[in-house]
Amino acid sequence: MTTRSMDPEKPMGLPDYHTHTARCGHAVGTPAEYVAAARAAGLTGLGVADHIPLLPDPDPVLSMSLEELDAYVREVEELKGAYPGYVLLGIEADYRPHTVAQVSDLLAEYPFDYVIGSVHHLGDWGFDDPRQLAGYETRDIDALWAEYLELVGDAAESGLFTILGHLDLLKKFGYRPSQRVAKQWERLVARLAKTDVVVEINTAGLHRPVAEVYPALEVLQQLRLAHVPVTFGSDAHHPGEVGRDFDRALELAWLAGYRDFVVFDGQPGGGRAGRRLAPLPAVGPRP
Ligand code: ZN
Ligand code: FE
Ligand code: FE
Ligand code: ZN
Repeated sequence: MTTRSMDPEKPMGLPDYHTHTARCGHAVGTPAEYVAAARAAGLTGLGVADHIPLLPDPDPVLSMSLEELDAYVREVEELKGAYPGYVLLGIEADYRPHTVAQVSDLLAEYPFDYVIGSVHHLGDWGFDDPRQLAGYETRDIDALWAEYLELVGDAAESGLFTILGHLDLLKKFGYRPSQRVAKQWERLVARLAKTDVVVEINTAGLHRPVAEVYPALEVLQQLRLAHVPVTFGSDAHHPGEVGRDFDRALELAWLAGYRDFVVFDGQPGGGRAGRRLAPLPAVGPRP
């Protein structure tokens, strides 16, 4: 567990709302292990948000199966009962235009406290899947960004999602947006500001080829100016990654001008947790 940069002796005063479990087929650990890691790290809350079955055809290495979803919900609900006010039942759901109705029906069947909406596909291309890297070689990167940013705006406006996941995920392998898509970014931020979605500051990007938090500081600054609220997620795929690099995330939030962030309050058996703004904790002294 040397990867965690947080000092358990100095709680960050932040929750982690984006964690996965072994059920998705590419992560390690049980929900209980993620909760234990969060408590040991001094986090103020832990949301389990594993990948919902990828529709229309769940891929066993990308998401849990439809059969596993019931057991997932039951297991996290039990943990919510054991740690009331600390554990939340979340889910990460894909935004794909042709599956919106199906995803909506599936989400309605369970009492999720919040739903992280993520765009992982442009058409059939899973652009964040390391097995499909060749897709970048034959396409114009700014055209991809324009298409991606449009989809993220559509996701926000779909009303399906509480939080938008890794807002600039398309940069994962280093294909950053250029100034040529500045207008599209502006348009996206304006669209988000008209919805009630929360954007997560997701630290997983630091450990991908791009080596940056999602979203980039410049994006966070624009979101702040548009009064789009933020919260925090590690996108942990291993219990040792819970709350990873949250000191960096907190620092970026301050740098972008944020003074508060969104906290969710879930009740066991509830569904769509209440939200409130909490003051951003102070950035701790540097070692
Ligand atoms: Zn994953
Ligand atoms: Fe994701
Ligand atoms: Fe995730
Ligand atoms: Zn994710």
